[in-house]
Amino acid sequence: MPERSAEEQSALDHIWFHVTPPKALQVPGGMTVFTKGEGCYLTDIDGRTYLDGVSGGAYVTNIGHGRAEVAEALAQQAKQLAYVTPYNFVAPPTIELAEKISELAPGNLNRVFFVSGGSEAVETAMKIAKQYHWLNGEQKRTKVISRRGSYHGSTFYAMSISGASHEYNNKIFSPLVPGCAQVPNHNCYRCEYKLEYPQCDILCVEMIERQILHEGPETVAAIIAEPVPAAASIYPAPAEYLPRLREIADKYGILLILDEVINGFGRCGRMFACEHWGVVPDIMTVAKGITSGYAAMGAAITGPKVTERFDTAEGRESGLNHVISFGGHAAASAAALKNIEIIENEKLVENSAAMGAYLLEGLSELKKHPIVGDARGLGMLAAVELVRDKKTREPFSPEDQMPARVTAHMQELGLIARTAQVVEFGPPLICGRAEIEQIVDVMEKTVIWFSKEMGIG
Ligand code: PLP
Repeated sequence: MPERSAEEQSALDHIWFHVTPPKALQVPGGMTVFTKGEGCYLTDIDGRTYLDGVSGGAYVTNIGHGRAEVAEALAQQAKQLAYVTPYNFVAPPTIELAEKISELAPGNLNRVFFVSGGSEAVETAMKIAKQYHWLNGEQKRTKVISRRGSYHGSTFYAMSISGASHEYNNKIFSPLVPGCAQVPNHNCYRCEYKLEYPQCDILCVEMIERQILHEGPETVAAIIAEPVPAAASIYPAPAEYLPRLREIADKYGILLILDEVINGFGRCGRMFACEHWGVVPDIMTVAKGITSGYAAMGAAITGPKVTERFDTAEGRESGLNHVISFGGHAAASAAALKNIEIIENEKLVENSAAMGAYLLEGLSELKKHPIVGDARGLGMLAAVELVRDKKTREPFSPEDQMPARVTAHMQELGLIARTAQVVEFGPPLICGRAEIEQIVDVMEKTVIWFSKEMGIG
């Protein structure tokens, strides 16, 4: 067993790592200290360089690592004025950022509630939706509908509407926020109704209407969906899905929230993924790619339909009773502005679409292997689904430890990936053909290795 450095030991002793069980961190390769990032690459404490296939591990660093321009913008604003409270104070970069986001956001979404990350953005959206209905005189509208398997964050409301790890959360953190109903997600590879698209007539979205009727439409405040659900196996919504969801929400006076925390800022080959479907939500949540990880920031973005309710109301209830100290942080805003400037100047949205298509083409070719059940994605968000039996789509069992073993093998081959039910890729949007080819090559070598390990093929 390789010796653990003092730094690694100190990290294990003093850092509470997120999600990963302590014993899984202790095994060799269970935890990595990275010391440098440059473009699409990360370097660890032993000087080994890896291609970053998941943008810092969580689809964050859209513009890549080590961008000095962003660091300089951040430092300059921090020297000038790092922070003022978002109650009624604001600094110029935050104003400029809100204006820029309003220009980029779909439809007429033009008012931004800044927070410090994705979970807070989702939490904010929940409260905006409830207060919007309250101001409308519809105080009974308190419920939220979300989709199974999706992940919307770790704070209490965001966790309660997240389908991912729902059983775990319900078992340990119960009681969750009441009034959260979950419906099947769209996943045509593993349809809960065992139907085939398009003959299914997208029953999964029709079931949302049935759920609304079951709950009582006058009690439902919002529906939240992620156009390309990252945690729910990266299956892009079928063409008719989001337009139909928009119709259903409108029919019953329910707000549609689209969660673009991962999908946004070019990740899916458009500035915001919902543009692929031509659907404008009532509230859009963003984070991650808004600064590409150079500062902590998230936002809930709304349009006049929602904000006019607040603007025209009287009294204390006309202000959203919600404050996040770091919301609209001046230095973080300067970093976000520079990040967006890079996305635009370097045409990273276009590159995401082009290189994403190239990635999907390469990954799809791997379907020739007996354990590759499916390859899918949109823009620079892609997945490969490994299965024990391609015909029956039987997944690997927990005893096979596919996710941990496959991820560790890819890391050994110099590629950082992420595996839950599927092997996930979301590299920086600056990747070129050489990096995409490296991802596909490592994936193929790993598929061949794991097939042998499993005695398949
Ligand atoms: N929403 C989605 C779709 C996410 O994927 C995530 C995180 O991965 C979140 C919300 C929560 O974001 P954060 O981790 O910044 O709180």
